[in-house]
Amino acid sequence: MARDTRTILDEVLAGARLGADDAVTLLSSPNLAAIGHAADTVTRRLHPEPWRTYNIDRNINYTNICTAVCDFCAFYRPPKHAEGYVLEREELYAKIEETVALGGDQILFQGGLHPTLPLEWYEELLRDLKQRFPQVNIHGFSPPEIYHFTKISKRPLKEVLERLAAAGLGSLPGGGGEILVDRVRAAMTRGKVMTDDWLEVHRVWHQLGGRSTATMMYGHIETLAERVEHLERLRQLQDETGGFTAFICWSFQPDHTDMDHIAPAGPFEYLRTQAVARLYLDNFPSIQSSWVTQGREIGQLALLFGANDMGSLMIEENVVSAAGTVHHLTLEQMRSAISELGYEPKRRNVFYETFDEDPAVALHANMPVASCCGSSSGCGSHEASSAASQLPVITSVT
Ligand code: SF4
Repeated sequence: MARDTRTILDEVLAGARLGADDAVTLLSSPNLAAIGHAADTVTRRLHPEPWRTYNIDRNINYTNICTAVCDFCAFYRPPKHAEGYVLEREELYAKIEETVALGGDQILFQGGLHPTLPLEWYEELLRDLKQRFPQVNIHGFSPPEIYHFTKISKRPLKEVLERLAAAGLGSLPGGGGEILVDRVRAAMTRGKVMTDDWLEVHRVWHQLGGRSTATMMYGHIETLAERVEHLERLRQLQDETGGFTAFICWSFQPDHTDMDHIAPAGPFEYLRTQAVARLYLDNFPSIQSSWVTQGREIGQLALLFGANDMGSLMIEENVVSAAGTVHHLTLEQMRSAISELGYEPKRRNVFYETFDEDPAVALHANMPVASCCGSSSGCGSHEASSAASQLPVITSVT
C-alpha cells in the first residue's frame, strides 16, 4: 500500500534515500506545496550560498539532417530532404563571433545523426573552432550523436570520445535522454541509441575525466513508474562516476510533431516532477530550471521547487522552437527572475564555476528585446543578425 506523502517527505528530509515506489507516490500526490517545500529545503542545504546562477551560451544546430526518426521531434529532416542543411564553416564562425561579442563563452553544439559525415569531419571542425575561439567551451554532441559516430567510424566508444576531447570537445550535453526506458524509446524512436548505450556514453566520458549534464523529457507515453526508472538509472550512474554536473527536465512539447494528439503536461506537473527529481537525485549537485518550455514565471518558481540554476540564456535555439514553444528572456529579465526571489543573480560556466562580475550585463544593458517571427519551423529567424540589434532569445534544453 502506498505510504502517505508527509511520511515520505519527513523521511527524506531526515536523510533517507527516496525509493522508487515512494517517488511514484509523490509524482501522484496532489500535495504540490509540501513536495516543493521539501525539494526547496534540500536545495537550500546543498546550496546555502546567497545566489542562484545562470549561464550565457549559444545553441548551434550544425545540421538538421538525421537518419533517426523520433515521433516527438519537429526539428529533423531526413537525408535528401529539401530543407536539410549542414552549416557552412563561415556561418559557424559568425555565430560564435556574435556569441563572444554578446558576452557568451560557450556553445551548445548539437545536430541530427548525419548519414555520411565521418568522425574526422567532427574532429577537424572542433580543432578549427578551438583554434579560432580558444576561450569558448564546446558543450557538444549528445549521446545519440556520439553513439552514431561510433557506428559511422566503426571505432570503439572510448576512442571516439578521446579523439573528440583531444580535438577540443569540452563537455557533453545530456540531450536525447527522453525517458531512459527501452519500452518508451522503442515506441517513439527508430534508429536512435537505447538506454544502456546512452548511459554508457556518459559513463565512459566520466571515466575519461569529463563532465556532462543529464536530462529528462517527460509527459508523453511514459508511466510515472518509468519516469522514476529514468531517475533511478541516472542516480545509479552518478553513484558510480560522479560525473554529472546537473539535471534538467522539461515537458514534451507536442505541437508540430507526430505526437501532437498528446496534451502537454502543465506547470503543476512540471514543478512536481522537478521537485521529485531534486529529492530523488540526491547525488546531483545542481538542478536547472527549464524556463524555455515553461515561461519566465514558472521557470522562476522552479527555483523554489528544487532548482538552483536558471539554465542558459541562449542566443539561438532551434529544437524547442521547432515544436512551437518560444519563450523570450533578456539578460535583465533572467537576472530579475532570480533577484525577485531574494537571491543574487550570478553567472556561471558549464562547470558551475561562478563569476563575480558578468561582463555581459553592461553589453546587454541598453539593447532592445529581440523580435521573433513566431515561426514554428525552426526557420532561423531567431538568430542574431548583429550584436548591436539583437538579444539572446531562447534557452537551452540540455
Ligand atoms: S530528436 Fe535528434 S535523433 Fe531524433 S529525429 Fe530529432 S534530431 Fe534526430
